[in-house]
Amino acid sequence: MVTTHNLGFPRIGAKRELKFALEDYWNGNINAHQLNGLSEELETIRLKEQSCLDIVPIGDFSLYDHVLDMSFLFGNIPERFKNKQSDESSTDLETYFKVARGRGNQADTCCLAASEMTKWFDTNYHYIVPEITQKTTFSLNPDRLFKQISKARQTGFECKPVIIGPITYLYLSKRKDGANKLELLESILPLYHQLFELLSRKGVKWVQVDEPALVTELNQEWRLAYKYAYQYLKTDKIKLLLTTYFGCLGDNLSTVAKLPVAGVHIDVSQERDEAEQLLEILPPQTILSLGVTSGRNIWKADLACLLDWIEPIVNRYPERIWIAPSCSLLHVPVDVDSETQIPNTVVDWLAFAKQKLEEIYLLGIALNKGRDSIKDALFDNSRAILSRQNSTMVHNAKVQQRVKSITESDLDRSSSFSIRSKIQHNCLKLPLLPTTTIGSFPQTPEIRRDRKLYKQGKIGELEYTAKMQHHIKHCVTEQEKLGLDVLVHGEPERNDMVEYFGEQLNGFVKSQFGWVQSYGSRCVKPPIIYGDVHREKVMTVNWIQYAQAQTTKPIKGMLTGPVTILNWSFVRDDQPRNETCKQIALAIRDEVLDLENAGIAIIQIDEAALREGLPLKRKKWQGYLDNAVAAFRLSANGVSDNTQIHTHMCYSKFNDIIDDIASLDADVITIETSRSNGTLLEAFKAFEYPNDIGPGVYDIHSPNTPSAASMEKLIEQASQHIPIERLWVNPDCGLKTRKWEEVLPALNSMVKTASILRKKYNKKVA
Ligand code: GLN
Ligand code: ZN
Repeated sequence: MVTTHNLGFPRIGAKRELKFALEDYWNGNINAHQLNGLSEELETIRLKEQSCLDIVPIGDFSLYDHVLDMSFLFGNIPERFKNKQSDESSTDLETYFKVARGRGNQADTCCLAASEMTKWFDTNYHYIVPEITQKTTFSLNPDRLFKQISKARQTGFECKPVIIGPITYLYLSKRKDGANKLELLESILPLYHQLFELLSRKGVKWVQVDEPALVTELNQEWRLAYKYAYQYLKTDKIKLLLTTYFGCLGDNLSTVAKLPVAGVHIDVSQERDEAEQLLEILPPQTILSLGVTSGRNIWKADLACLLDWIEPIVNRYPERIWIAPSCSLLHVPVDVDSETQIPNTVVDWLAFAKQKLEEIYLLGIALNKGRDSIKDALFDNSRAILSRQNSTMVHNAKVQQRVKSITESDLDRSSSFSIRSKIQHNCLKLPLLPTTTIGSFPQTPEIRRDRKLYKQGKIGELEYTAKMQHHIKHCVTEQEKLGLDVLVHGEPERNDMVEYFGEQLNGFVKSQFGWVQSYGSRCVKPPIIYGDVHREKVMTVNWIQYAQAQTTKPIKGMLTGPVTILNWSFVRDDQPRNETCKQIALAIRDEVLDLENAGIAIIQIDEAALREGLPLKRKKWQGYLDNAVAAFRLSANGVSDNTQIHTHMCYSKFNDIIDDIASLDADVITIETSRSNGTLLEAFKAFEYPNDIGPGVYDIHSPNTPSAASMEKLIEQASQHIPIERLWVNPDCGLKTRKWEEVLPALNSMVKTASILRKKYNKKVA
């Protein structure tokens, strides 16, 4: 018999119920008791939604983050959050939110630095980084988990508690004193041991122990740690399902095969080879759980094709195979049946979390009782798969032909940077240390209201255009008053830098409820790329042209780059990602050329998510980077020498990819620096960045006005590595989340600082 199970389910709720409950709690509209009530309701709903499976996960539900839950399970709370002023009213829940976001509910006046947040492997989910030091002690607090288990039991489900394994927990944590994280293994293992003991006493049969660090490239020390830890935790009392996901095991396969666990889960949604390899070398009783469908994309699986592959395996190993999605379904929306605005043809190709469980359920029946027992469902499934394969909505011969005919020269500017730069200098006549911004200006309530009215059809195209033009004009006037050198239109018409383009490009659809948790209460709704991408008509030109007509200073046209659009969307799985990326790049290229034709001399193509797309395995980095660089160049480099191309990136961790960043060959790159205390400048010590660069001097993530001194210092520091003639002065990132009251003084101070430094250096140059 094949067992069906699931690794984790979205927590945010089909209509983002958890988000709203959290915000209500933080704003003081509901109390802790009410929040708990709401979250229990949600937990019950999600349990029921998984009831078609043999075993459901429990403990994967979290009020904010499952890694933070682990820290609380093991009593690993950073010292600064431990009730200093014997603040007795402070509860666990309050402390929990303090660690996550620096403060508890609205009444909480104490402001502490929240723990850091970082990306969960190569997904867009962010977890709260556990902090450890030499002094860290652990203590077990399993009450919450136990409560969840008993609740699930009441509903009659066989449940499998989910926890993060000891090695991955340490792998994800940050050692504050810089020492080796594995030193803490000795002190955390006994707690895992104790926890397993308690769970077994509660009658729990299986525990899912997540160890996704096993799909990264591990050195000998970490591999030995795996051996040591699981030898230590070896037990007959409870069965451990060592769970890996987000890719294959690769070089860690033989390490995994030797660990003394009752079962292993692997991700075979992309590469299948490891299933057979493991079955041959695992001990004969060990369960192998196959993550056969992708837990990260939103496409229906081809059930017949999967059965063709799994059936022979099950025949050979009848008692050893479990099936599940590849990873937790945290990374997909809840239910495609709520979608009413995606065309029916496309909805028919999609599977969100609920539908993905249905697929596993059906596969289970087919494997246990024969395909005939799900004949109708299989028929339906293959009809959908065929409809997608053959759809004229998906395939566009013209687009495919255009991608085929891309040549090397399409990726290159006509002249080298040194030549272009002189030409641009003569046309643009910008001063030394030119000042600019990253694109967006405050998205005021009025701007949001006007966009909403238009979306709801309450105002027509003409009125909407007039309203947006009004916002653009205001933004341009303010920038002129500030004395900035290169202006922007302010992006009032954009709700999101990817969604905006997704709405206008062919080959994309937008969902209504396709929310995916990004962190805590924050969700994103990635557009869905289902078909060949192309641009039918201009997307941004009219707004930019309008802005340019308001001023004699140059307006910088604003676009999102192909790699970022790809990385922040749900991407079709029926062709290589890079093929889709090239199509997007061509569409952006068309827009770039139209902007140029409309007289826009400076065009910025944001690649905020370029670094995020780096594969988990380092040996795959170069392939990814080569494609990313080529796609950016394809989108940007059709312009003449006079046109100045900018790009922007929201991070400064460039050390390891700086060659590739330089290969983008953008004339100007603006980046984050102010929060990172010069990590960027480190990179420039080792590598001479060849083009212009604007290290962000104003941290837009904070409401504070940066001091002139800090901005001056940053530019002075940068000038030690990059000649002053190639430096720009700008904020860290877009200003859309800030208020005008915050932005004006900060930019004013930035412009003044630039002007002081300009005088100083102009004298030196003279
Ligand atoms: N141009 C965008 C903005 O200013 C860039 C946003 C980003 O880098 N995340 O908002
Ligand atoms: Zn940014």
